[in-house]
Amino acid sequence: MQVLVLLGPPGAGKGTQAVRLAKAAGLVHVSTGDLFRENLSKGTPVGQRAKGFMDQGKLVPDDVVLDMLFERVARPDCKNGYLLDGFPRTIAQAEALAARLGSSTRVCALSLVVPDSALVERLTGRLTCRKCSSIYHLKTLPPKVAAKCDKCGSELYQRTDDSPEVVQKRLVEYSAKTAPLIAWYRGKGVLREVDGNRSEDEVFRALEREAFAKGAC
Ligand code: AMP
Repeated sequence: MQVLVLLGPPGAGKGTQAVRLAKAAGLVHVSTGDLFRENLSKGTPVGQRAKGFMDQGKLVPDDVVLDMLFERVARPDCKNGYLLDGFPRTIAQAEALAARLGSSTRVCALSLVVPDSALVERLTGRLTCRKCSSIYHLKTLPPKVAAKCDKCGSELYQRTDDSPEVVQKRLVEYSAKTAPLIAWYRGKGVLREVDGNRSEDEVFRALEREAFAKGAC
């Protein structure tokens, strides 16, 4: 079983690359942000617990995230492996994942490196498809028809947590709680860093090389 973890600050391109990488590798794409948004729109208890944290750009408490994630990856479609996007976001989450997987499954962590200056611009102009989660940008990657997804025709929207105020809070939360995971995975010898400040295709090829080339993790 292969488990890939995509690390990087909000706006680094994790969502975009995760969809492509999962498809190329035949792995299931599991995004905890998407799972929370699904729970929110259905009004489930998990969604209700997560809402306040998400609206403020804060991380949802580990116990809520872990229950939701472990339930998702226990489903049969994940039995050959999966690609995690937006998880883990704290050392405690990474430790819980490692404990669950045991020593026979090695996690490979791919870290997208993007300078802070590029992140705010990317996030505040981002458009997300309500149905297939494809990502566009008002300036750099507009859809062919305004507010409609090129791929599935569904409505595009701006996430409420992509407002400038909430983006700042998410970046602070990332530096304090998630960035330490880079050193944590490096210490385990399973970290691969990729320059994410290039075209989508270039980043994708670099990620593919790091994840699947012979001798890679
Ligand atoms: P994302 O779509 O990955 O940017 O996630 C959106 C929001 O969902 C985050 O700002 C957090 O509030 C919450 N969230 C997603 N994944 C996690 C996680 N692994 N741990 C804690 N909160 C999370």
